[in-house]
Amino acid sequence: MWRAGRESLAHRLLVRYSSPHKFTPIKGIHLGRFAGSPASRTSIMNTLRITLLALCSLLPITPLQSSEVDQTLHLPLRVHLITGAEMVRETTGPDGKTEQTVMNMPVTVEAATAIIEQVNAIWAPAGINWVTRPEEGGGGILMEKAGGDGMSAERRDTLARKVVGRMRGSKIRYMDLVFPALADPANNETIGNDGRFNRQTPEMYHLYLFPYVGQTLQGTAKLPGCFAVVGVFSDKKPNQPGYPKPRPHLVSGKAEPVLSIPNFPAAGCLSATIAHELGHNLSLVHVDEGMEDNLMKGRVKLRLGPNQIKQARTQAMKGPLVKANH
Ligand SMILES: [Zn+2]
Repeated sequence: MWRAGRESLAHRLLVRYSSPHKFTPIKGIHLGRFAGSPASRTSIMNTLRITLLALCSLLPITPLQSSEVDQTLHLPLRVHLITGAEMVRETTGPDGKTEQTVMNMPVTVEAATAIIEQVNAIWAPAGINWVTRPEEGGGGILMEKAGGDGMSAERRDTLARKVVGRMRGSKIRYMDLVFPALADPANNETIGNDGRFNRQTPEMYHLYLFPYVGQTLQGTAKLPGCFAVVGVFSDKKPNQPGYPKPRPHLVSGKAEPVLSIPNFPAAGCLSATIAHELGHNLSLVHVDEGMEDNLMKGRVKLRLGPNQIKQARTQAMKGPLVKANH
């Protein structure tokens, strides 16, 4: 359904790209490094204009964006749905009443499949496709017991409480000491003997969905890197703390999701946050390239700018990449 609808979807996103994405074998591609040269050289060196124009006409100039996204990059992704870590948060409202929220893992493998399809719709204009299906070289979508079989229930509860107590700016190194401990090392080749995310050249990207990742936080990622964590529950209202609640999975709940600002839920949604965190894995930082709906900084997070596309593809080509043709 999504493949067939990609052209119209991209049109609705108002993203201009001139060729459809084909599933072609992955090879090194030329990034069009001469594409910016003619204009800058002729403006700086007017006296050499005619000579330079003649010279530049001999160079292999191609439209930058078109040449960059001609070839889809397939990136292997394993999605870990972390179960068994119950996270309990008590919140006192302005009326003095205390509300208790018990957070578990409501996302199923089926729901995660739909979420990743929407992540791929967001990334399609960059010619980047996250592959989870093992038969296509992906890492699968796994329901995974927090801490694996080797962790005691007591230790799991201690770590869950640490996550619930996490505030923005906390000095505890959650990405080193807490989140990897709550993953199952049997399913993650990046977790070393010291229990941390540490392998330099992992075979795939790893996305962890936890019930919750901390107060007013929705996701964290290694920049650049191969792992990201996202919370299914969030207590972040648009700009202030609130009560934790499960977030919408997709940008639109309609049968055919429409990725546009009017359909973006106020509470944010998992697909956009995941697409954003994977952007960090591909080295992107919080800039908006002049777009109010920029994936990395916008009020709603959906679109990538041309510089971000170029930068993300450059990082993606360093690997890991799906090797097999399909
Ligand atoms: Zn971010």
